[in-house]
Amino acid sequence: MSKHSNQHMTTDEFRKQGKKVIDWIADYYDQIEQYPVLSQVKPGEIRSNLPESAPLKGREYGDILSDMDKMMPGITHWQSPNFHAFFPCATSGPAILGDLISTGLGIQGMIWATSPACTEVETHVLDWLVDMMDLPKKFKSTASGGGVLQDTASSSSLVALIAARERTSHGDTNLNGSNRQLTVYTSQQAHSSIEKAVKIAGMGKNNLRLVNVDSTFAMDPKHLKELIENDLAQGLIPTFVCATVGTTSSTAMDPLKEIGNICTEYGIWLHVDAAMAGPAALCPEFRFINDGLNFADSYTFNPHKWMLTNFDCSVFYVANRKVLIDSLSILPEYLKNKDTDSKTVIDYRDWGIPLGRRFRALKLWHVINYYGVEGLQVFIRGHVENTQKLKSWIEADERFEIVAPVPLNLICFRHQNGNEFNENLVNSLNESGKIYLTHTKLNGQYIIRFSVGQAGTSLDHLKKSWDYILETVKEMEKD
Ligand code: PLP
Repeated sequence: MSKHSNQHMTTDEFRKQGKKVIDWIADYYDQIEQYPVLSQVKPGEIRSNLPESAPLKGREYGDILSDMDKMMPGITHWQSPNFHAFFPCATSGPAILGDLISTGLGIQGMIWATSPACTEVETHVLDWLVDMMDLPKKFKSTASGGGVLQDTASSSSLVALIAARERTSHGDTNLNGSNRQLTVYTSQQAHSSIEKAVKIAGMGKNNLRLVNVDSTFAMDPKHLKELIENDLAQGLIPTFVCATVGTTSSTAMDPLKEIGNICTEYGIWLHVDAAMAGPAALCPEFRFINDGLNFADSYTFNPHKWMLTNFDCSVFYVANRKVLIDSLSILPEYLKNKDTDSKTVIDYRDWGIPLGRRFRALKLWHVINYYGVEGLQVFIRGHVENTQKLKSWIEADERFEIVAPVPLNLICFRHQNGNEFNENLVNSLNESGKIYLTHTKLNGQYIIRFSVGQAGTSLDHLKKSWDYILETVKEMEKD
């Protein structure tokens, strides 16, 4: 940006337009409840309103900003307090501002030397989080391990799998091609990103074992052990177990202690995926989710889901950073420098897939400092309390059944009238634009998922949503 350039936006104009953009975003949040939560456009509708070709000459910034009017109908309002689909993706003012500064600085922190603050703030804030959530101390950079920010939990789990593969195969990737194949275990309820990681890591989908779950949809450790024994008997090499704390379908909690004991017995890498549920450990009363985490070789959770930090921001911890670094390290000539040589700095390019890295820790810094530990606890606690109240309203209506335990902020329930009725109910609610819900299948049944976690969602919002669900059911029961 130069004040004297004809072509670039001057700093004066940037200041002027930037203020308008901040106003635009603030107005959006003021009015967010007026939009239909789920975008109601048809496929192709947004594109059909865009110019056929790119402008030959640059346009006024004000005109570019007004293009948002054409795009807003195609926005699904994830930050609406009535968004209860999937899992939350909660953001906050401080997170947005932190991200804006990161973008404004425009740095690229691939190695320590290319912006020491980018690396050191990241290391520092991730060490803070270990204490804030009472995670095993081995995950700290001051111990044997360390934390790093990845874009998503999918990337975190992939990186864990690659480190486990390299630890077991000692870098001899031919192991995979021979009949001494490496096997991977996760539950039938695990997130699809584990299967994807197995594919990307080249370990072969046929080497992925889906462990049975119990009546609470949590992994059955007995079945895990049977599968491992069976693979060993066939000369295969059990390499990686992914346990989930808060499954995507129903927030089931895999029993980490039992699974951890099995992993220790057979020398298998234990990765724990707590993508959404992880931030619950900010509150001492929810630290049951950490039981058995001391067995884990790696751990991931997403501040971009339930910790007020805008997408994308996934925390990844490893107990032994050397194994991770050995598996991903590269050092071409052009990246050599005296600080790396001194071995006194962290070069995060060796802790993940991309070389280039943005200053992602800045938004986390903003969030933690703005809310403080207590503020974040109030946020999490409020959602869990409100979810439990909603659960009691659902339970009180005998037409509905809660089909899975509700340890935190997700309710899985169904109306007694069967799959088609429930599916029609979800479609009708979503078409109304008043609320957005998604579904899952458990034991072959169509199940409605009600997920609570957006920044602005209050008990009053839940009450109104529940009343609206009952109203819709009443209409549907008439038909
Ligand atoms: N793991 C679990 C348990 C999830 O619920 C999800 C998404 O909801 C993911 C992983 C994937 O998260 P991401 O989008 O960060 O890759």
